[in-house]
Amino acid sequence: MEKVYVFKVALKHRRGLWRRIEIKGNQRLADFDWLIRDAFNHDTFDHLSEFFKERWPRGGFGEIDPDGGGSGAKKRIDQLSLSEGDKMGYVYDFGDEILHNVTLEKIVQPEKGVEYPRVIAENKPRYRYCERCQEQGKKTIAAWICIECSEEEGREVLLCEDCLEEEHEDHYADEILY
Ligand SMILES: [Zn+2]
Ligand SMILES: [Zn+2]
Repeated sequence: MEKVYVFKVALKHRRGLWRRIEIKGNQRLADFDWLIRDAFNHDTFDHLSEFFKERWPRGGFGEIDPDGGGSGAKKRIDQLSLSEGDKMGYVYDFGDEILHNVTLEKIVQPEKGVEYPRVIAENKPRYRYCERCQEQGKKTIAAWICIECSEEEGREVLLCEDCLEEEHEDHYADEILY
């Protein structure tokens, strides 16, 4: 029976942000890539990514296109010769180089009726709040960082969906990941 690989994937530069992901040994790096993109709010339609064993770009397993193609896409998880405790890396977007630490925590038996790959746990969110709502005495979780205002003011300008639409409609903004 196919084994299930349990990985912890964490952003290298924001280690508090992690997801625990289960994937079967006969699934492909393209499947793993897709789930990581989804779990970390990366684009699923743009930018290349790659898993690697050493220090990127050394030891790479081959690039993966967002459409599931690429030289590394078809490699199976059980072909990477990983044992429990082994670490590898994942880079999303060769331009911005968003690096992730990927640790194989354990290898377990599959559960009946479960679809893999899947996210089974994630960090506890440390929410931040919309500054415009706060000024009005309301506590609303911020969903966006306005990049334009942040650069202009030299601090992070955090906003909820409504406030972004009302006052920063034409500004370039990034979604905040918790
Ligand atoms: Zn608001
Ligand atoms: Zn703005």
